[in-house]
Amino acid sequence: MSEKTKLEDIVSLCKRRGFIFPGSDVYGGMAGTWDYGPLGVSLKKKIMDEWWKFWVEDREDMFGVDAAIIMNPKTWVASGHTATFADPLVECKECKSRFRADKIADGISESVTTEEFLETHTKCPNCKSENWGPIRKFNMMFSMHVGAVLPDDDAEVADKNIVYLRPETAQGIFTNYKNVVDTLYPNLPFGLAQQGKAFRNEISPRDFILRDRECSQMEIEYFVRPDAWEEDFEKMRKLQHEFLENRMSLKTENIHELEVPAEDRAHYSKRTIDFMFDYPNGEEELMGLAYRTDFDLANIQRESGKNMEYRDKNTGETFIPHVIEPSIGVERLFLAVLSTAYMEEEKDGKTRVLLKLPENLAPYRFCVSPLLKNKPELVEKAREVYDRLREKYGNVTWDDSGNIGKRYMKQDEIGTPKCVVVDFDTLEDNTVTVRDRDTTEQIRVSIDEL
Ligand SMILES: [Zn+2]
Repeated sequence: MSEKTKLEDIVSLCKRRGFIFPGSDVYGGMAGTWDYGPLGVSLKKKIMDEWWKFWVEDREDMFGVDAAIIMNPKTWVASGHTATFADPLVECKECKSRFRADKIADGISESVTTEEFLETHTKCPNCKSENWGPIRKFNMMFSMHVGAVLPDDDAEVADKNIVYLRPETAQGIFTNYKNVVDTLYPNLPFGLAQQGKAFRNEISPRDFILRDRECSQMEIEYFVRPDAWEEDFEKMRKLQHEFLENRMSLKTENIHELEVPAEDRAHYSKRTIDFMFDYPNGEEELMGLAYRTDFDLANIQRESGKNMEYRDKNTGETFIPHVIEPSIGVERLFLAVLSTAYMEEEKDGKTRVLLKLPENLAPYRFCVSPLLKNKPELVEKAREVYDRLREKYGNVTWDDSGNIGKRYMKQDEIGTPKCVVVDFDTLEDNTVTVRDRDTTEQIRVSIDEL
């Protein structure tokens, strides 16, 4: 990413090369939703797999869960979402447009009152008038009915069957804490990790995939001894950097830790660090690290009547563990990876666009092509090389369209590190041209050395 890279450049590349399309594009779109195309799925999956490997498979103290998206509504009462997961909604009386009050006025928070909002003398972004209705709390959970509810059922019947699409994956972890302790009885500290979809009915989705209505989260609830939380928080903080910088290849200078002051923290948190990232459209939250105390397990114990205490194997003492939660949105990480990789280079009066994706994340590691596609002997040899590399590395693509220059341009834009070209010399000496994405240098390499 350079100083002048704009979010639009990345949106445009994503569409042009099949990373991300607007959701339901063929029907004119669906606000706040995005669809991943072949290359986007590949990159997204690699990001999620790297995360899973780093946090779960490579560690002794982490275990995975995969909970249902639709959960018992008591979950959201206990977690506080039914009461507090709401945005301040304001309606313009002139044009009937609705907005999130804290997003259209400067210097006010999510808990703004009608009076405070009116004092800002904000004009309607749509019609420029200043005739506002009162601030109303708008709950961002998507609600729906489960089971056989008919349109003419009375409200009482309908209300009983209301469920929500989960607004976070965290509660699917907390509700399984007891199941895991009862079955595996891991030593403290231990973590439960989950990847999955979460849904938020954003009043005004915007900023591409940064604020969408449907997103994927990767969350860990790390259960610790209450007296050890500071030490474990610090351990988690350091590991976040290791993951973001070494596995995702984000630049240290683009990541900023923001210690969230008490008045801005979520209701359950005693300490939160927001990891901010320099996106093309400015600094935005990439992930959060929160100390949630025993808030969630204590609430579950109260709502469910089930004991959430942990019994220490050595001392026999019992207590409700406290929790450190690293939480990251896949889309936010995806965009951070893409914008770090995005480059434009001027060469011979032409602009070359490339994605300098690291090898572990690039959708394809190699592209193999015959110099000419109408020479059967070249095509046959190139197929042999392609099969061989595919067997060895898996993610290898084939391209025999257009001329070589066009193929290189395409592979640069989708981030393929190496292009392998089979030509007439290959038939003689079994060597191929390997062209490097970042330097554009070409070298001859024996097929056996690939
Ligand atoms: Zn208006």
